[in-house]
Amino acid sequence: MKAFASSADQAAKEQTLEVLAEGVYALTAEGDPNVGAIEGEDFLVCFEAMATPVAAADWLERLREHTSKPVRYLVLSHYHAVRVLGASAFGAEVILAHDNTRALIAERGQQDWASELGRMPRLFRDPSSIPGLTWPTATFSDRVTIHLGGGRGELVLAYRGRGHTEGDIVAWLPRQKILFAGDLVEAQAALYTGDAFHREWAAGTLDAVAALGAESLIGGRGAVARGQDAVAAAIGQTRDFLNTMLAEVGEVHAARGTLKEAFTAAHSALAPRYGRWPIFEHCMPFNVSRLWDELSGIERPVIWTAERDHEVWDQLQD
Ligand SMILES: [Zn+2]
Repeated sequence: MKAFASSADQAAKEQTLEVLAEGVYALTAEGDPNVGAIEGEDFLVCFEAMATPVAAADWLERLREHTSKPVRYLVLSHYHAVRVLGASAFGAEVILAHDNTRALIAERGQQDWASELGRMPRLFRDPSSIPGLTWPTATFSDRVTIHLGGGRGELVLAYRGRGHTEGDIVAWLPRQKILFAGDLVEAQAALYTGDAFHREWAAGTLDAVAALGAESLIGGRGAVARGQDAVAAAIGQTRDFLNTMLAEVGEVHAARGTLKEAFTAAHSALAPRYGRWPIFEHCMPFNVSRLWDELSGIERPVIWTAERDHEVWDQLQD
């Protein structure tokens, strides 16, 4: 029987800080969640907050080798715990997210915290350093533009439709053509779709992400995609993963098969291409469970709890 989710993944990942353009930073980590930062003339915008303040402090220490500007904005791409619970380390004036992200934190933030801590304990370095749920202090429904000042252009935060969650946003630098895509796009890392809207994500939402015309893309996990071909490949991989799940799970569902049969079909179809990528085995039971619900007419994702995580895992991943 496989170890639950990522609970057995205890090997430290190497973090790489890249300067993608003047004042634009990305920290990637071999498949662990990515973060970024953008310099304004006299302030910083940070993108994603990591799982704990202790983990975030290490990222900020590396960022401080490049700039001492204060963090004015902390942008959260969506509500997942490993992206938001380190927020207190940033001392940001404003914590920005989509309207739906704030609502999701209110509705299920506490359960998601317990769920993600159980699934990915390594990412929660010193979990006792988390002061509580992270609350966005400003939210929006469609887009917000942050003027960076000093001829640096602007940073556009935009909602592209439902996808990985109900409230994902991307951060887009139109002048530099650099896109921080959050978990809407993964680059050679498996997708987590346990809180997703597969059909919308695979179609209109990814179309709207692609339409931005990015030349560099930082996905939720995996290396930075540099150049139009690499960006197209990352978006294409994300779409193919979703479409393969939709085809395989959809066929079993339509034939009135079982959830377990759907899991086996989707796993077999995806494993040759994606089976070796980070968190593939971890994600698949939760992914298929959510898609099965979606196809059964359950509009919004059922809240994951630590207990439900183990029930689904024990049912499917043995
Ligand atoms: Zn996520």
